[in-house]
Amino acid sequence: MSRQNKQFSVRFWLFFIFMALNALFWMGFINARGNDSQQTQEQHTCACTLNCMDRRVQRPVEEGTKKECRVDGVDVITQAGMVKVLAENEKKFLIDNFREEIELSVKEHGTKKVTIVAHHDCVGNPVSKEKQIEHLRQAKKTVESFNLGVEIILLWVDAPFKKAEVIK
Ligand SMILES: [Zn+2]
Repeated sequence: MSRQNKQFSVRFWLFFIFMALNALFWMGFINARGNDSQQTQEQHTCACTLNCMDRRVQRPVEEGTKKECRVDGVDVITQAGMVKVLAENEKKFLIDNFREEIELSVKEHGTKKVTIVAHHDCVGNPVSKEKQIEHLRQAKKTVESFNLGVEIILLWVDAPFKKAEVIK
């Protein structure tokens, strides 16, 4: 073999070994990531909430949903006056969107329980507490009609927006 040929051969093999190591590294990396996401799904449990957009209720609703549904994470779907929209069941575009988002939460995050929220001083639904509780019960029927096999829990947040209570 000429000297040039030898040099080429050595370079070729060095390049080949480098690429092979590279491939092994990335395969290992991808594998590790796969295991990681499986573990994440096993370790975490998720519920979903149909909440108002009001800033004051976000924290108590997340905490209340975690507690009542015994989960450590909550998917959040928001709408101003959520219970009014769900109870009236007229704005088809919004209702379809809620249904799709709950379905995603169920299929992708393993959600089995959904909370529906009404609260004191709601700008999206400025009616009495009694009327809002009626809306909550009607909203439950709308979500039940989605047939997603989820348990539904109704929540009410009163002033001063510290905690969510369950409405039976
Ligand atoms: Zn509101």
